[in-house]
Amino acid sequence: MNRNKITLTHRANARAAVLFCLLALIAGVARGQTQVKPDTALRMLNAQQQQFEKGVVKVADNVFTAVGFHGANTSMIVGTDGVIIIDTLFGPASAAKAAEAFRQYSDKPVKAIIYTHSHGDHIGGASAFVGDEKPEIYATESFGSAEGVNKAVNPVKQKRNIRQFGRNLSPSESTNRGVAPAGTDDSDRGKGFLPPSVTVPNDGLKTTIAGIELEFVIAPGETDDALFVWLPKEKVLFAGDNFYSSFPNLYAIRGTAYRDVLNWSKSVGKMAALKPHVVVPGHTMPIQGQQAATTALSDYSEAIRSVYDQTVRGINAGKGPNQLAHEVKIPEHLKNKPYLIQFYGSVPHAVRAIYAGLLGWYDGNPTTLNPLEPKIRAQKISELAGGTQQLIEQMQSALAKHDYQWALELSDHVKWLDDADRTLARKVKIEALRGLAAREYNAPNRNYYLSYANELESGQLSEVWF
Ligand SMILES: [Zn+2]
Repeated sequence: MNRNKITLTHRANARAAVLFCLLALIAGVARGQTQVKPDTALRMLNAQQQQFEKGVVKVADNVFTAVGFHGANTSMIVGTDGVIIIDTLFGPASAAKAAEAFRQYSDKPVKAIIYTHSHGDHIGGASAFVGDEKPEIYATESFGSAEGVNKAVNPVKQKRNIRQFGRNLSPSESTNRGVAPAGTDDSDRGKGFLPPSVTVPNDGLKTTIAGIELEFVIAPGETDDALFVWLPKEKVLFAGDNFYSSFPNLYAIRGTAYRDVLNWSKSVGKMAALKPHVVVPGHTMPIQGQQAATTALSDYSEAIRSVYDQTVRGINAGKGPNQLAHEVKIPEHLKNKPYLIQFYGSVPHAVRAIYAGLLGWYDGNPTTLNPLEPKIRAQKISELAGGTQQLIEQMQSALAKHDYQWALELSDHVKWLDDADRTLARKVKIEALRGLAAREYNAPNRNYYLSYANELESGQLSEVWF
């Protein structure tokens, strides 16, 4: 079963790579960075599904990675008198299934658990791997810092989280989450979390556990509390969420503090410098073979750095975030690499995040120091169109022409007008969101458009949100 699974995985990866290149070429000529024809978007997302097909992948003689048991990956390293577990999924139910699958390869006791970072999908199932033994649990000194920020706005973050991941979408609307399957069972979130007992110092740690040599390297990126794990003998690298098969989520639309993009690129560059024979990502299939793994990491680091540098150059040339979000691109020689397609992260969102992260909200243009309030602007736009009726016609005509973004923008003006049919504007917004969703292969965008449309339609959203 084992051999077959591995061969299939390789074939699936190769097939997916060819498909991605073809589809990405098509995507390149379409409008918007992640908008393509509806059937193309679906084909791409379906192909990406292979990246989290459920199974255990043998990545070295004594190293196994369970993919697709929940959203993230969990790995087992088999040593002389015990095993080491890296990341533990979201809750004990899914973790127990992965632990059971691992037992086919070793039933030695768990000597250590390592958390690559503090996101819930990597830490919530630890108890399921542990029997009577009390393993040491390794994490960075700043473990947990990522979740400590923005607590004041939790009510809105929760709403946005549900939309980004499409948690309330029907099965027919669901595709996936970019680097994770849709429809995971999240009911036992965090119930198996065990607190860290060993702190990895800021200058890293080299140690031996169960006869296995390990190196921990502090690696800020998706979170400030991230580390990666290197097995110098096996030449296997566990990247955590600083690497997976998709352009990285340098900004999450569910709402996060600034992710340090420059350090993210540097952290992945450090991984590439080790020239691993295998890279095990926090999500999606491991990449095996020294050439493939090392190239993927150095390409990834370069792509992040390029998006950062282009944005900084644009900022210093006086450009604002709206312009830069359309101008900055993944370099030509990297954009069709299967691990850089924007299934999860989005370049335009990253650009805006870098802008705000480095300079805050103000774009430097005095026009935007005190812009008109939305209602006054809407009235002036209506006058410009020749009256409310004409503005409504423009909105409907944009929808009819599948000019969905423009239809959305006009509906947002119409909603402020006292003499307008707001129910109609709401309907146009719902249809335009669904039109955009159908053409979208960036999973968070797609899920967000669809979720928001459903919420508007069901009347869950107040006038403020509309
Ligand atoms: Zn994750």
